[in-house]
Amino acid sequence: MIRATGIDWRSTDWRALGAEQIDHAPPEGRLVAFHRAVWQVRAVVLPVALEARDVPVWEAAGRPDRLTADTWVGWPYLVDALWVAGHRPVDPEGDGHPLHAFVRVGARLNGGARRWNLYPPTGRWPRCSCCGEPMPCHADQLAARAAAA
Ligand SMILES: [Zn+2]
Repeated sequence: MIRATGIDWRSTDWRALGAEQIDHAPPEGRLVAFHRAVWQVRAVVLPVALEARDVPVWEAAGRPDRLTADTWVGWPYLVDALWVAGHRPVDPEGDGHPLHAFVRVGARLNGGARRWNLYPPTGRWPRCSCCGEPMPCHADQLAARAAAA
């Protein structure tokens, strides 16, 4: 059994060490990092239906044909990802079942895409020896911020 988590999926500027920054949907099967954890991409659904918040972007893009990914690279899409390691998201049942997440990336114009941290096809990624999070981990970022202040 796989369970969906309730995480807020807004984009951040965090860049995972050893990961490539991409602005398109990550390939299925590959590892990505977000929310202090590493996830495996199970499936990408492209395109998905517009939501109310997508409509102004869709209009600004010239109202491209509906639900045809070929006509507009800015169509919303959905990524189904399985939690692999790092910070474990809250599991309301707490029974250790595999956790997965649906990340919906909304409509976007050029330059406004969500950035993904995509690890190499080898599946290897730098892990903090203290907390197990992908590097730079939360503690690393706090230390860097304190040093810069
Ligand atoms: Zn750490």
